[in-house]
Amino acid sequence: MRLDIVSIFPEYFSPLDVSLIGKARERGTLDVRVHQLRDWTHDVHKTVDDTPYGGGPGMVMKPEVWGEAIDAIIADGAAANGPAADASPTDAPPTGSPGAPATGGSAAPGPTAPATGGPAAPATPRIIVPTPSGRPFTQEIAQELAAEPWLLFACGRYEGIDSRVMREYGARMRVDELSIGDYVLAGGEVAVLVMVEAVGRLLPGVLGNVHSAVDDSFAPGAMRNLLEGPVYTKPPVWRGHEVPEVLLSGHHGRIARWRRDEALRRTVANRPELAAAIDPETLDKHDRKL
Ligand code: SAM
Repeated sequence: MRLDIVSIFPEYFSPLDVSLIGKARERGTLDVRVHQLRDWTHDVHKTVDDTPYGGGPGMVMKPEVWGEAIDAIIADGAAANGPAADASPTDAPPTGSPGAPATGGSAAPGPTAPATGGPAAPATPRIIVPTPSGRPFTQEIAQELAAEPWLLFACGRYEGIDSRVMREYGARMRVDELSIGDYVLAGGEVAVLVMVEAVGRLLPGVLGNVHSAVDDSFAPGAMRNLLEGPVYTKPPVWRGHEVPEVLLSGHHGRIARWRRDEALRRTVANRPELAAAIDPETLDKHDRKL
């Protein structure tokens, strides 16, 4: 999978060098390219924002600079795919922009080979714009994005990106405005880190144990509307707190039942709206008693 991230603070993305995502980049499963938006400005101050039409506080990110940045990245992706790619002049217009994708700050460029075993990147990426006014980013969306060969993340700052940018690209390719929660961050960088980690860990071979994602909260199937229950490891007693006896029993049926009960209890306590959304058809008699 190819990921392009455009930001005025590329330094934010150094965490993508470490842990699961760092290893996925080393292996070539993830090809992450971080770009400095200011590389596509043309004035001496490298200006990316201006005052909002209609007045009001704050600044808005200028459409021209975003247009040049996104066009250049799309053109780069189309060139990387070669003549076999399903590129069209409309999909990848020449821009004469500063061009080569930048890899700013400490976020080193990832391997440039296409994702191993994945499909060739298409002519256009799916564009993700983090914004508190977007659709909620969920595990379901993470799964959907994990199936995409190419994502481009546009990190807003100030009051956000001029809306015409989303309209312009939305007419030609998939553009999703996504929120990571009902609160306001200073910029899209942290939201993109959240999304990249949630998507990246779902890629084949990224998690050490493929079953980890299956048992997670919100996983498709039985856990879709359930939170995972409590987890324990050795020793069996720590500071007087005992591991529930059933987990030491070796009885797989009882353990599965206990885990389901705990998941239900925790969901009812912490996320009653999720519990209410559980399909009653999926509940058995034991569940209904909880
Ligand atoms: N004026 C905007 C509003 O009220 O919707 C908030 C802009 S916020 C200060 C600046 C940037 O941070 C946004 O453009 C977006 O990229 C990012 N951001 C802030 N909160 C976010 C959230 N909950 N989810 C995703 N991105 C967020």
